[in-house]
Amino acid sequence: MAETSFDLIVVGGGPGGYVAAIRAAQLGLKTAVVERENMGGICLNWGCIPTKALLRTSEVFGLIKHADSFGISVKDFSYDAKKVVERSRKVANQLSNGVKMLMRKNKITVFDGDAKLAGSEGGQRKLAVAMKDKSNITLTAKNVILATGARARQLPGLESDGKLVWTYREAMVPPEFPKSLLVIGSGAIGIEFASFYRTMGAEVTVAEVLDRILPVEDEEVSAFAKRAFEKQGMKILTAATVGNLKKANDKVTATITSGGKSQEITVDRVISAVGIVGNVENLGLEGTKVKVEKTHIVIDPWGFTGEPNVYALGDVAGPPAPIASRRSPASASPRPRPRPRACRSRSASSPSLAMARRSRWVSPKASSRRCSTPRPASFWAPT
Ligand SMILES: Cc1cc2nc3c(=O)[nH]c(=O)nc-3n(C[C@H](O)[C@H](O)[C@H](O)COP(=O)(O)OP(=O)(O)OC[C@H]3O[C@@H](n4cnc5c(N)ncnc54)[C@H](O)[C@@H]3O)c2cc1C
Repeated sequence: MAETSFDLIVVGGGPGGYVAAIRAAQLGLKTAVVERENMGGICLNWGCIPTKALLRTSEVFGLIKHADSFGISVKDFSYDAKKVVERSRKVANQLSNGVKMLMRKNKITVFDGDAKLAGSEGGQRKLAVAMKDKSNITLTAKNVILATGARARQLPGLESDGKLVWTYREAMVPPEFPKSLLVIGSGAIGIEFASFYRTMGAEVTVAEVLDRILPVEDEEVSAFAKRAFEKQGMKILTAATVGNLKKANDKVTATITSGGKSQEITVDRVISAVGIVGNVENLGLEGTKVKVEKTHIVIDPWGFTGEPNVYALGDVAGPPAPIASRRSPASASPRPRPRPRACRSRSASSPSLAMARRSRWVSPKASSRRCSTPRPASFWAPT
């Protein structure tokens, strides 16, 4: 029977949770992580890493397209969507396995299951865990960190259906690449997919409700990005609202209103990238002092939720955290903290990789030490 009593249990194995767990273990706490899906969380499995793998493919593809300008002649080149996606998944799995290895190395117990707060007894927090193998167990710990992350926001009328209207999850693993695409929302996520699919040859329209793309970045960054993407042939509509989506014959027709004019566009696929919402449901927060505001858990500067011995960090804790893996109470030590490999940036010859570097995901300081900021404030910006 595995150990069930710990000094600290972290709920969620994303970059916020796993880094906190590693630091806690390094500081001598008996630590466990409960993860319901994949170690590494969204960042390693469905976010930072697989998107950068896709962008690397599009960067190479873009270079080959312009090989002639380098004096290189390349004839008859094409891509295989299945292999492109496979490569991205392989990179993601590799890094997720790396995190599992880090857990073992730091003697952190990992429970594959879905956890929720279940009261306290004798100064110990209790967690009820529905394990993936269908068993139910109870764990106890002196302290609990909620690091449950976030998921794509769904707007009424623009909800993803997994087939014609995608969130970032479906956009990451398409069975084939669309020939035409509407991306709703021009935050970092929307723009990365817009750039990827445009470079791979799709006709891409981006509709942004605010008056500039990448609205939380500096104005000159937005302007630079807009110019670069339009040069690539992307159509960008700002101050634009997308009405309900009509679906027929494996196509989607959207009505977009911009500058007082409405137009209809019909595309193969739509990506809805209108922000994220914190995973605050089914965490057993009812009857506790944990407060939820606008889908995120409210914390003080130490990550404390107000409920004794319960902390929160990362995307579930919302703004203004500069970096998910820096928000942990356990990481509040003056010693250098381990950085998730998720942070490493690469060469950036495509506009979106360059943008990733210029954006808050890679601050100038972080860029110089080859590390990006795991969570941009943009995710929480109203769109
Ligand atoms: C497409 C995309 C691209 C991105 N690119 C970048 C980038 O380039 N750079 C960057 O810095 N950031 C990027 N991000 C953002 C980054 O992924 C997040 O900021 C980061 O993952 C947040 O880490 P987290 O630990 O707070 O949460 P998450 O990574 O979301 O991890 C939370 C984990 O908790 C688990 N969980 C939830 N509830 C429970 C429960 N009840 N019990 C057990 N487990 C639970 C989930 O399964 C998940 O694994 C991107 C995001 C997306 C979607």
